[in-house]
Amino acid sequence: MSEVFVIGGGAAGMMAAISAASLGHRVSIFEKNDKLGRKLFITGKGRCNITNACDEMDILANVVHNEKFLYSAIYTLSPSSLVDMLEGMGLSLVEASVGRHRGDVKVNLVLYRQGGISLDDLTQAQKVLRPRLELEFDRESLSVEISSPGMSRKIKDQREYEIFAGRGIRLLIGDDWINGILAGSDGNEVLITQDGKEKRIPLAEIRKAKLD
Ligand SMILES: Cc1cc2nc3c(=O)[nH]c(=O)nc-3n(C[C@H](O)[C@H](O)[C@H](O)COP(=O)(O)OP(=O)(O)OC[C@H]3O[C@@H](n4cnc5c(N)ncnc54)[C@H](O)[C@@H]3O)c2cc1C
Repeated sequence: MSEVFVIGGGAAGMMAAISAASLGHRVSIFEKNDKLGRKLFITGKGRCNITNACDEMDILANVVHNEKFLYSAIYTLSPSSLVDMLEGMGLSLVEASVGRHRGDVKVNLVLYRQGGISLDDLTQAQKVLRPRLELEFDRESLSVEISSPGMSRKIKDQREYEIFAGRGIRLLIGDDWINGILAGSDGNEVLITQDGKEKRIPLAEIRKAKLD
C-alpha cells in the first residue's frame, strides 16, 4: 500500500483518487475550494450530463476541435464503462433514471441477474456505483435506489430482449397475446421458443411485451 496525494479535487482528481483507493492505496485529496467537484455543479446547466449512450467514435466525431486530445480519456473510461463494471459483477443495467426534487437527487437503477439478485449483490452494486455517482451529484443530497425488475415487468427498451433471454415472456401482437421463452433479439426481430419451436417476431409488430 502506498500513500497517494491528489492535488485538485475536480472530476479528474476524484476519479484518480477512487482508482487509487480501489487498488488499496491510502489516498488524500487536497482541494483549494471548500468542496470537491465544485465545477461539476455548474456543468450541464446544473444537471451534469454523466455520459452519452453513443459509442466512442460518435463522441469523438462530435468534438469540435482537437478530438485527438480526448483519445486516451475516452478509451480509458468509455461511456459504457458503468455498464461494463456491472457486467463484470454478473449484473445487467436494465434501466437508469435520475429524479430531482427541491435540490435532492434520486438515482433509480434497475439491475438484473439471471437466477435473481441477492441482498449481497445490491450491497456490492451500491459500493461500486455510489462513488461514481457522487462524482456527478452532490453527495449530501444524493440517494441511490437499486431494485430488481418486477416479476411481470413491462419491456421498455429493445436491449431488454437480450438481457432477459431465458425468461418467460408475453407479447401483444395485433389483438392477441402470445407466450413463450425469450431467446434474444438481433435488433430487428425477437426470438422466442414455443413448445420447443423457434419463432421470430419482427420488433415492429410487438405492441406490448411483459415478462411472464
Ligand atoms: C459550463 C460548463 C458545462 C459543462 N458541462 C458538462 C457536462 O454536462 N458534462 C460533463 O461531463 N462535463 C461538462 N463540462 C466539463 C467538465 O466540467 C470538465 O471536463 C471537468 O470539470 C474537468 O475536470 P478536471 O478535474 O480536469 O478539472 P476541474 O473540474 O477544473 O478540477 C480541477 C480542480 O483542481 C483544483 N485546484 C487547482 N489548483 C489547485 C491547487 N494548487 N491546489 C488545490 N486544488 C487546486 C480546482 O479548485 C478544481 O477543483 C462542463 C464545463 C463547463 C465549464
